[in-house]
Amino acid sequence: MIVTEIIPTLREAVAEVRCKQRRIGFVPTMGALHAGHLSLIDAAIKACDFIVVSIFVNPTQFGPSEDLAEYPRPLERDLTLCQRRGVDLVFTPSPEQMYGAENLTWVTVSDLTEPLCGHSRPGHFRGVATVCTKLFNIVQPDLAFFGQKDAQQALVIRRMVADLNLPLRIVVCPTVRETDGLALSSRNRYLKPAERREAPSLYRALAICREQILAGQRDRLILEQTLQQELGKSALVEVEYAAILDENTLKPRTPLYGRVLIAVAARVGKVRLIDNIAVDVHD
Ligand code: AMP
Repeated sequence: MIVTEIIPTLREAVAEVRCKQRRIGFVPTMGALHAGHLSLIDAAIKACDFIVVSIFVNPTQFGPSEDLAEYPRPLERDLTLCQRRGVDLVFTPSPEQMYGAENLTWVTVSDLTEPLCGHSRPGHFRGVATVCTKLFNIVQPDLAFFGQKDAQQALVIRRMVADLNLPLRIVVCPTVRETDGLALSSRNRYLKPAERREAPSLYRALAICREQILAGQRDRLILEQTLQQELGKSALVEVEYAAILDENTLKPRTPLYGRVLIAVAARVGKVRLIDNIAVDVHD
């Protein structure tokens, strides 16, 4: 496995692979890898011949009061996991390599970045879209793999790729969960034991809401109330948003129809968690 933080070294390795007409799969991450990340790597291995994983805690997607400094960076462990899984190249750039002394060019995707996490994390998706554009230009993959866990991010990136005619395809993979439903996240390790016990309430609320939709409930406001009520049962959970939206536009749609996204974000203690599930509504 090649490990490099140098852009020209990566370009050279990937160019050689491309010459041989081999398919390049790319999994961008911020490291602290868990089974969710590994599922993306597995999907990439299935579909591609040469797998690139990036590990980069992207400073531009963190707000000034967010956890950039505390974000976990267990690099040696991550590299071992990548190697065991069959990754071909790990790209570990520094912020200076990615942004130089001063970055004046930014990628912004409108509309889709306004609700949900866009509302609570101003500038977050500008950082995400910019770093993904840079990484896509550096790696030039055929396919890039993202998790449904960050549904809004996947939607924003897919739209950016389409709007900017970037020559790659985005593949979105299902959310990997603990047995009690909690979506895996690099931030779960910061949950204190009592918080960890309450954290699955996000998924429970989503699942109850999905059951109500499947049972015929189509009133968005009633469903959003259900989400709030379910989340409200956990004293340690502070809801940031609990919303039911059209999965493609992220706009509320009344009555519910088509692919519907049920999305929540909450603080459990100091840890910010997000989760979502999508439901098909066709009557
Ligand atoms: P991150 O390292 O948090 O930036 O995540 C890197 C990629 O892994 C993103 O595409 C995430 O959506 C994806 N991911 C994170 N958690 C999960 C999970 N529990 N299941 C599937 N994919 C995930």
